[in-house]
Amino acid sequence: MKAWKDNIRKIDPYVAGEQPDFPDMIKLNTNENPYPPAPKVEQAMKMQQAERFRLYPDTNATPLVKALAEFYHMEEDQFFIGVGSDDVLAMSFLTFFNSEKPILFPDITYSFYDVWATLYRIPYRQPKVDENFYIRKEDYMVPNGGIVLANPNAPTSIGMDASDIEEIIQRNQDVIVIVDEAYIDFGGQSVMPLVNKYDNLVVVQTFSKSRSMAGMRIGFAVANPELIQALKDVKNSYNSYTMNRPSILLGVESVKDVDYFYSTTNKIITTRERVKEELRKLGFIVPDSQTNFLFITHPKLDMNDFFNSLREHHIYVRHWNKPRISEYLRVTIGSDQEMDTFLSFANKYCKL
Ligand SMILES: *Cc1c(COP(=O)(O)O)cnc(C)c1O
Repeated sequence: MKAWKDNIRKIDPYVAGEQPDFPDMIKLNTNENPYPPAPKVEQAMKMQQAERFRLYPDTNATPLVKALAEFYHMEEDQFFIGVGSDDVLAMSFLTFFNSEKPILFPDITYSFYDVWATLYRIPYRQPKVDENFYIRKEDYMVPNGGIVLANPNAPTSIGMDASDIEEIIQRNQDVIVIVDEAYIDFGGQSVMPLVNKYDNLVVVQTFSKSRSMAGMRIGFAVANPELIQALKDVKNSYNSYTMNRPSILLGVESVKDVDYFYSTTNKIITTRERVKEELRKLGFIVPDSQTNFLFITHPKLDMNDFFNSLREHHIYVRHWNKPRISEYLRVTIGSDQEMDTFLSFANKYCKL
């Protein structure tokens, strides 16, 4: 064995949902938005001049920061922009979690958190969510090196009241609490306003789900200016020019199209509630969701078999062979037409 093998950083990476490409497929496996980005984004894209690509982009994505500060009624120095919220979260782990004590996040949550903790050699512990997949706030009121909560949580789709999260933040003022609000625009209660009250809170959001811009890779953090500066310092010690010019420009257009944003998120919420009721009629157990997906199981069906059968028919959903959730599927809310196809397949499958 070569000696250098001992010095390679080894890690089991995060496994993203597959990206199949069939013309007839129904893709409900990565929580993408079925609707196109805002019309203003499409218009601005046609105006892009390749000539501008000679020049480096703005390292702080300033035009996007200005648009977001206006939309959320916050200050510009409270924003940090990254290449998707995965970038923002990874940078936040690196910047804020440097204690000897373990950081805390639930046993069932976004499966990137343990990967980053391992990559950066941050000790971590994962308190168990209860039998209905609810996060127990008491579990986060013990000594720790920091806290990460996805709210609403993934893949469970369950949201936590802002008042419970506030209690966790309030009881942990010696460490940083990161709240990952990737799905917040589908009905959850955001804790972003609490950034003005607690200096240990970092709220992270993304354009990938509610803004239909997963392919542009835009995410951001909101926190007090001191934490934001710390994030910028780490990022600028790593790679200053992360976000490209088109993403900055098109991100601004998306934020400006306020009506479109609310109309598409509302459409998805309406579809989600309808699909939830239909699935319950078929005997599925479906927790109330505050996201753009449903986390489903069925007492009489093997979910792995159902997953494979859907897949054979080019309907893609997500399944994990992991403790506690191997009998569940995560189903992204697509267009009404896509969901009707999914429901009619489920209906037939239940009658086999
Ligand atoms: C989708 C998702 C993200 C990351 O999304 P980006 O595309 O990197 O912005 C982060 N956290 C959770 C819980 C997610 O589901």
